[in-house]
Amino acid sequence: MGPTVVGGPEWPDDAGRRARPADVLHSKTLVLNRSFLPIHITTVRRACVLLFQGIARAVDADYQTFDFGGWRERPEGGEWLGLVAGAMPVPRVIVLVTYDRVPRRHLRFSRHNVYARDHDTCQYCGRRLPRSDLNLDHVVPRSQGGLSTWDNVVCSCHSCNRRKGGNTPEQSGIRLLRRPVRPAWTPFLGEDYGQARYREWRPFLSFLDGGRGDGVA
Ligand SMILES: [Zn+2]
Repeated sequence: MGPTVVGGPEWPDDAGRRARPADVLHSKTLVLNRSFLPIHITTVRRACVLLFQGIARAVDADYQTFDFGGWRERPEGGEWLGLVAGAMPVPRVIVLVTYDRVPRRHLRFSRHNVYARDHDTCQYCGRRLPRSDLNLDHVVPRSQGGLSTWDNVVCSCHSCNRRKGGNTPEQSGIRLLRRPVRPAWTPFLGEDYGQARYREWRPFLSFLDGGRGDGVA
């Protein structure tokens, strides 16, 4: 059982500096591994569940960590979240206590995530290009029964895509650089920061500056 979280329009609007709970719950929390390296972004809702279950601890600006009870007792904090049992500061950064116990989230198969997995690099000619110059290529073409799955779709530049046409790499004489597989963990990439980069995240994201943030655990 996770904490019961109050959300939706029934939450009274006279709570002063408390943001609308539904918005806060769907906003983002940064997840660090035990070495304090960012590995993931999740929702505040899920972060609260991980805290409550003891799988993660909340992290404050002084790098102190708190369990669920300790975090709720914290007097300071700008943003607050309404729980049935009372309010608590919004955990914007959490650190995993034991990495192994965290259930893996299903990684959505999407254009963005394939580009991220392949580091925006054509998997035939090896060129790294802006996303506008890339598309997705079915290794075994759909016309030959190829599926839209992690292990049959790669990032490709337009010219390789044209050369390959409706053929397999073997049929077209184009070599595939790497056999595609489902990523082991959610690619951790800059795009997520752009959408919501919180002040509380900055000390931890500075690890990634210059590295394009694709440090996947
Ligand atoms: Zn190419």
